[in-house]
Parts: sequence; structure tokens; C-alpha cells
Amino acid sequence: MTGKYTIYPLHLGDIVRQKSNMAYMREPGTKVTFPIIAFYVTDGQTKILVDNGGTPPDHRYQPYERTAEQEPVRALKRLNVEPGDITNVILTHLHWDHAGNNRLFPGAKFYIQRTELQYAVAPLKIHEGSYDYDLIFRTKYHVLDGDCKIFDGISVITTPGHSPGSQSVVIETEEGPYLIAGDLIGLYECYESDPMVANGIHTDLVAYYKSLEKVRALNCRVLPGHDPTVLEHRAYPFNR
Ligand SMILES: [Zn+2]
Repeated sequence: MTGKYTIYPLHLGDIVRQKSNMAYMREPGTKVTFPIIAFYVTDGQTKILVDNGGTPPDHRYQPYERTAEQEPVRALKRLNVEPGDITNVILTHLHWDHAGNNRLFPGAKFYIQRTELQYAVAPLKIHEGSYDYDLIFRTKYHVLDGDCKIFDGISVITTPGHSPGSQSVVIETEEGPYLIAGDLIGLYECYESDPMVANGIHTDLVAYYKSLEKVRALNCRVLPGHDPTVLEHRAYPFNR
């Protein structure tokens, strides 16, 4: 392993939601199409996913659009990756649009924060629809307790707020570190606004803003969870 990774965003479908769903209290009533994004991360040897997209689109309670080309196996194949090649899946959190395809990677080791699992078991009723219980509890997880290094060049930091156990993934590249933020930062504009804007779905706003400050202090390039402009580059870093 080189400890220097390349990050490929995977476009795994689209959700149409109110803007205020992704950016708290911004433009309520305005419908926006947000991509569902997962990330394939590799140094040429180790093959990792950060998140893995949404549950099947015929889902009982969370409808969204997914073309055949956006099916996770097809999206990986375009990068010459087979599902069985994926050895590790790091989940930013357990919401249906981030951890909906665990079953496609039975040979992988799945990383999640303990606090995320604990909340998913018994969330507030208003958040129950964010978790697909049929899927997420069939996975055996490698449970993490706090910030830690996963590999040389890949570490996770806890960034609670959107959910209690949300984590962000810091990845070393030839151009310095990138941070995959999950839904802590759904859109670039949320991170670039002053004050910064939380996701409309959150469990603790005070913790949320501490997490945003924690990310800011790292001075990484940030990859948001649902910003269409993330998909404008086939891979990161892109300026090589
Ligand atoms: Zn989420």
C-alpha cells in the first residue's frame, strides 16, 4: 500500500426533496434533485467503499430514481471493480441512502460507529424512516468507538449531529487529504455559508456545529454527501 489514494464518486441514483431537507430552513417548498453518492477509494491494491447507496428503488417508504447504470454493481464495473474485490466498506452512517446495499458485498468488513448502531436500534420516531431495518441489521459490523486510523492514509473522525454516530472519512491523496463528510455536509453551500448550514435532518444541532468546526480545523478538501458538483469529476484528486 502506498498510503495515497484516489477517490471515485459513484452516482447511484437521485432523490427529489425539498431544499430545506438538505439545508436546514433554506427555501422550504422548493423541490431539488439531489444525487445519491458513494465513493470507491483505492491505492491500486486495497479496494474500499465509503457508503454504498440506496436500498432498492422500489422501497416501501423512501422512493427515489435509480437507472440501471446507477445500480452499484454496474457503477463499479465501469471502474473494472467486481463486488467481490471490495474488502472494506466504511459507512458514514446507517441511513437508507448510504447503507442500502450492504448485501452486495458479503466478503467485506463493514465499519460503523457504535453510537450509530445504538441510535439506529431505537431512534426518535421522526427518524425511523431513515433506517431500513430489513437491511442494516443483517450486516455484521466492525464497531468503532471514536476517531481512529483504519489503514495508512485512511482514518475516520466522529462528526455527530446529523445522526448521533455519523463519522467522516479522511483520505490521504497525492494532493493532500480529502474528507468524505456523509450528510454532515450535504452540499458545498452548507459548508461555505456563514454561518454554516446544518442538514435539515439532525439529532443534535449543538453537536452538529461542533462537528462542522472539527472538520474546518482539519483544513481538508471536502466531498459532500449529496452535491451534484461532486460528480463533475471522475476522480479526486482531479488536478493532476
Ligand atoms: Zn443521512
